[in-house]
Amino acid sequence: MTTQRHGIEHPQFPQPQSPTPTQCQRTPLAFDFEYGDCNRKMPELEAARRACSRCPLAPDCLLWALVNKDLTPVGIFAGTTPRQRTKLRNRLAARLGPDWIDVLADQDPARRTLAVAPDRAA
Ligand code: SF4
Repeated sequence: MTTQRHGIEHPQFPQPQSPTPTQCQRTPLAFDFEYGDCNRKMPELEAARRACSRCPLAPDCLLWALVNKDLTPVGIFAGTTPRQRTKLRNRLAARLGPDWIDVLADQDPARRTLAVAPDRAA
């Protein structure tokens, strides 16, 4: 999903990149769902989910979308709706604590080496 949103990307969770265009890059409107759209546009939602299920970026895309909440308030990312991502964030916070993003970053050696922006380091 490539729709531009307002917010700053977490430096340890950059948006995954593909050498070839993903389906959401080729047809971004097919992934553009608001909170209330998911019941009204079920066939379109299922089509987007099917595309995500075949996407090699899906695991990293989901993590990116969960961490970068301000960049993903709407839209389908890794097959998830905005409401599902809210539930997943709440589950992560319940399981790992309020600093769940830092916990996830610490668990991944590759992410530990990525710089943290000064405004997030405090
Ligand atoms: S998983 Fe879905 S939303 Fe994420 S990059 Fe792939 S096609 Fe796009």
